[in-house]
Parts: sequence; C-alpha cells; structure tokens
Amino acid sequence: MSGAARELADAAQALAAHLRYQRALGFATVALKQEYLVTATATLAEVAASIQGCTRCKLSRGRTTIVFGSGAPGARLVFIGEGPGEEEDRQGQPFVGRAGQLLTKMVESVGITRDEVYICNIVKCRPPGNRNPEPEEIAACAPFLAGQLAAIRPGVICALGTFAAQTLLRTREPISRLRGQLHTYGAAVLVPTFHPAFLLRNPGPAYRKQAYEDLKLVRREYDRVRMAPPG
Ligand code: URA
Repeated sequence: MSGAARELADAAQALAAHLRYQRALGFATVALKQEYLVTATATLAEVAASIQGCTRCKLSRGRTTIVFGSGAPGARLVFIGEGPGEEEDRQGQPFVGRAGQLLTKMVESVGITRDEVYICNIVKCRPPGNRNPEPEEIAACAPFLAGQLAAIRPGVICALGTFAAQTLLRTREPISRLRGQLHTYGAAVLVPTFHPAFLLRNPGPAYRKQAYEDLKLVRREYDRVRMAPPG
C-alpha cells in the first residue's frame, strides 16, 4: 500500500473507531471539529516514514520487516509489548502470533476491540531468538516509540510484561509488584500486566485471574479518559 493510501486507511480507521465510540455514548450526530484525528494520523504516518530502512541498531540486520505498530491513530488506549516475534517479523504487524491471539482475547474480555486501540512494541525489529532487547537497541528505537505516543496522545497505556513495564517506568521492580496498580507515563495512566506469552507459558487460573483484574483496571481507566473533556 502506498504512503497516501495507508494514511487514508488509518484516517478511515480512526474515524470509524471514533464514530463507534460516539454511537456507544448514544450520540446520533457528531461535531466535526475533532481535527486531532487527522493530525494524529498525519503525525503517525510521518514517524512511520522516518523509520523506513532504519539501521540505527544491529536488530536491523536480522529483521524481515519493521513492525511499527497497528491500530487507530486516535486511540485513547495503547498496548505496548516488548518486540516482534517470528510471526510479527514475517507479517510486519504486532501481536499476530499465539501471544497476539491471547492478547486479542484479553482485550475483548473487557469489551474492547483491537481496532479501537493501538498496539506497538518497545523495539520495532525482532531480537534474534526472541531474546530481550539490549539497552542500546532500546535507546535506538526510543525516538520512534516517543513519536508514536506523542502523535496518539493516549490517556491509558497498558504495558505488557516485565520488559515493557520496566522500560517505560524506568525501574527494575518485578512485574508481580508493578501490576495491579496505576502508574503514570507522561500525561497517561500506565497499567502493567503480564505478557500474554508469559500467560501461555504459565497456564492455570492464578495468573490469568490477575491479568483479568489488570484488564478491568485498564477498562475502568479507559472509560474515565473517554468521558473526560478533551484537554
Ligand atoms: N511479543 C511482543 O512483545 N510483541 C509482539 O508484537 C509479539 C509478541
């Protein structure tokens, strides 16, 4: 898809999500002054263009595609994972493998759909063998994540797993201590939860129940920011 077509598709997706949201609130008509939708789409497209062909770190040598992110540029809720896995690297989309399928279920368990949120990762290229990204790789990719968040301006961020939570919160605290409570990231509320891949590796009700509690927190905060007047 060309850059212009992608931008148009993003704008249409953001507009559709916004109209669904308005309808869910019971509005039959919409005000036409939400220019931020277009701005978020255009800014996000600029960030996406700026990462094309990136060789800022050694992850670029092993990648098949850059996995920039997917979803609605006007999203109020952003999910952030660690880095693309094998399937994501192949398809160029985040969270499309087994962990991604579980993420979809987690999101839908609290009545949210994937197309109304934005999903991306700390690093945009697959670390070999799914190892953790290294500090210089995170640093090299940081401007792109910052650009995405500056364009979208989410009210709520859900950090998926130890690595994303520790990186965003600049802490070494384990996810078991970070989850279950609200943190802040810039102007957004940040809710850490278990990575879906961790939940797949550790089946059983205990962790799933905790993850569900976290998702309910996400839902509560998501509702709160959507009700708040634009600021
Ligand atoms: N794990 C991640 O952290 N991100 C993906 O996109 C897929 C799996």
